[in-house]
Amino acid sequence: MLRPTVKWLIAGVTLVFFIGLLVLPGKRGGRAKLALQPPPGVARLPAVRVLLTPEAVTTATIQVDGPFRISPMGSQQLLLRLDRLAKTAVTLTANGFRIGTQVLVVPRIEIVPDGEGAAWVGDREYRGKIQLIRQSGGRVLIVNVVPLEDYIGGVVDSEMPREFGTEARKAQAVVARSYALAQMQAARRGGLFDLYATTRSQKYHGRRYLSSDGRLLAGDSSDSRQIAYETAGMVCTDQGHLFCTYYSAVCGGRTSLGSDFFSDAAPPHQSVPCQFCSESPLYQWQSNITNADLQTRIQRYWTSQETKFGTLKSITIGPVPHVGGVAEVQMSDDKQTLSMPATAFRRVIGTSELYSHHFQIERDGTNWLFKGAGHGHGVGLCQWGARGMARTGKNFLEILAYYYPGSQVVVLTER
Ligand SMILES: [Zn+2]
Repeated sequence: MLRPTVKWLIAGVTLVFFIGLLVLPGKRGGRAKLALQPPPGVARLPAVRVLLTPEAVTTATIQVDGPFRISPMGSQQLLLRLDRLAKTAVTLTANGFRIGTQVLVVPRIEIVPDGEGAAWVGDREYRGKIQLIRQSGGRVLIVNVVPLEDYIGGVVDSEMPREFGTEARKAQAVVARSYALAQMQAARRGGLFDLYATTRSQKYHGRRYLSSDGRLLAGDSSDSRQIAYETAGMVCTDQGHLFCTYYSAVCGGRTSLGSDFFSDAAPPHQSVPCQFCSESPLYQWQSNITNADLQTRIQRYWTSQETKFGTLKSITIGPVPHVGGVAEVQMSDDKQTLSMPATAFRRVIGTSELYSHHFQIERDGTNWLFKGAGHGHGVGLCQWGARGMARTGKNFLEILAYYYPGSQVVVLTER
């Protein structure tokens, strides 16, 4: 369980009734100030802990535009209280932290803005709390502890543009929530955080951020927050159990069989046909790689595996062994033929050139031509497919039922 004080009930509420419940008073009051408290009856779920950097760092820059306190992590004890903090470097001391001229002798602190306030870490501003956790080697983990539905509002805008349509984005919200809660259940067996802020988990840009050209951009919006609220507490279940909902950008014509990719893939991750993503620029794609370049990458890989590979003579890709499965790639030099799954080959060559593991290979003079379909692993919800289904008039429940056959969307309620 996530937290003993929160008891979840996978409710037998019918969704028609539930959606009827959600004729929201918040709409009248203007979307921009929507506070993401769950509607009555819906569970108040634990906050999510999102790691903000790919790994521990040696210093961080913090800025808080309104009043806040700093406490030891998990405590109400007041270490410092300020009305605001201009951009300030946080560094480690022998046994604590230095924030500007202040020294705090505790191994883990949290920065807690008042009310609906937010805090900047580097060039991104986050709702909720910021935790700084000392690690060995003079490094610190930076974790954003954010109410679940605030997080979902951020993920919806980070993962799926508004242009994809409300029903697609509602499907995204339910999938993002299910994924997050499943990851939280796994991480709470001792981890310091639940999720990464990147596609390693799900994209999450926080509340606002500075783009590389210095523009201030919104990480979430009144629209994405409304979508989080309207789907609050809704998750995907299989036989009454919440499951980790894998999803990808573009399946390219058929989704992948989940069990070929993830050891914990629940049964609804079946392979289904999908033409709904055909408007994606990566529904079909081509990449050219020179023979010399390909040779270098392949040899580098086999050298790392302590295997000698000579001059590349041929590459072929075999048939897909079963529906939604992964083909083998065979590569030959003068003496031998070595093989690996197309998924592994994709990583060897580069995922930004081979957008998926669905591809054919042709020799074209001094180049190799890869003709492929889709972007990502292709398991579960196809994001561009959700866009396509929404455009044909399907609602988010129909979209989820299509990409996770046999699953049920339920509402987590508090009892
Ligand atoms: Zn698709």
